[in-house]
Amino acid sequence: MRWQNQELGVESDDALPGLAKLNNLVRTVRTPEFQGVTFHEILAKSALNQVPGGSKVMPYAWTINPYRGCQHSCVYCFARPTHTYLELNAGKDFDSQIVVKINVAEVLRREVARPKWQQERPAVALGTNTDPYQRAEGRYKLMPGIIEALADSGTPFSILTKGTLLRRDLPLLKAASERVPVDLAMSIAIYDDELQQSVEPGTPRAKERLATVTAVREAGLDCSVFMMPILPFLTDSTEHLDHALAQVKASGATSVLYTALHLKPGVKQWFTFWLEREHPELLDRYAELYKNGAYAPKEYRRWLAARIKPLIRKHGLTRGREDPVTGGVERRRSIRFVEQVEQTDAASLQPQPTLF
Ligand code: SF4
Repeated sequence: MRWQNQELGVESDDALPGLAKLNNLVRTVRTPEFQGVTFHEILAKSALNQVPGGSKVMPYAWTINPYRGCQHSCVYCFARPTHTYLELNAGKDFDSQIVVKINVAEVLRREVARPKWQQERPAVALGTNTDPYQRAEGRYKLMPGIIEALADSGTPFSILTKGTLLRRDLPLLKAASERVPVDLAMSIAIYDDELQQSVEPGTPRAKERLATVTAVREAGLDCSVFMMPILPFLTDSTEHLDHALAQVKASGATSVLYTALHLKPGVKQWFTFWLEREHPELLDRYAELYKNGAYAPKEYRRWLAARIKPLIRKHGLTRGREDPVTGGVERRRSIRFVEQVEQTDAASLQPQPTLF
C-alpha cells in the first residue's frame, strides 16, 4: 500500500548524515502526494524558541516553527542558511527536505503551562522563520494543536503566512481571538503572476492569497498584508505598486507594511543564481545596490518610501495598527522596526522581522 514503510519508529535509509544531529529523528517519509519532497519527522524537545536579544530588537521575544525548510521555495528566503546546520544545502534542499516537528503541539502545551510562562504570558510569533501554512501543513495538521495550546494558556500570538491553508483554521482562530489577542497577516509582495511563479514557485498566486485576506476579514478578524520584499527594478515601479495596493485595498486588508529586499550571505548567492537565469540584465545593478551588505542602501530605501507612501495614502490604506499586546505584525513596535530597517544599516538586527 501507498503508506507502507511509514510506520512510526521505522528507521529509514533515506535519513541524511546531517540529520543525525537531530537525534530525535523518527522516520523519513516520501509520498506520491508530495513529488520530490522528503519529510524528516522528528520529536522536538522544545516548541518555543527565544529570539536572541528578545523584544529589545524584535517586536516579539518568542517564536514557534513547526517546520524547518519550506516548500514555498522563495528564492529570496531569509531562512535558507539555517538548513546548512543539517548538512543540507540552502538551495534545493531547503525547498524539498522538510523537517517536521510532529509533537510540537504536545510539547508546546507543556511549555506554556509552566508557572513562569503563566506569570508573563509573552506574545508568540509564527511565520518568522518558515511558513507554518506551507503545503506540508495540509498533511501534518500541526497548527490546530498549536493554536489551541496558545489560546488555552492565555498566550497572545501572531501568524504571518503565504499559505491559503490558513482558511482551514479560521473557525479555530476566530475562537482563539475571543480568548487571547491574535494578529494575522498575509505576505503578498508580487502581483505579476509570471514573476511571482518564478520567484516564489511553491506559493499560491497573489489572487488566491488576497482571497484569503478577504476570508479572514469576513470571519471578523483583522488581517494585514506584508508587501515584503519589494524587489528593486522588478516590483518597485509605480505601476506595480499602484496595482498591488489597489488589490490590497479591495481585499479588505486592515493595513499594509512594506520593506525592500534583504540579501544576507547564503541567500544572496541563491538569489543571484535566479537573477542570472531569469534577469541577467539586472546583475550589475543588483551587485551595485547590495555591494555593502544585506540591505539595500539608505538612498534606495528613501526613494522607495517617497514612491510608495503617497500610493498607500491614495488607496486609503494605513501602515499598520497599534496593538500593544500581541507582539504581532500590527504592533507599533513592528512598524517602528520596519522603519528602523528602512532608515539604518541594520545588518546587525537578526533575524529579519519577517521572511516575506
Ligand atoms: S520566504 Fe517564507 S514562504 Fe517563502 S520559502 Fe521562506 S519561509 Fe517559506
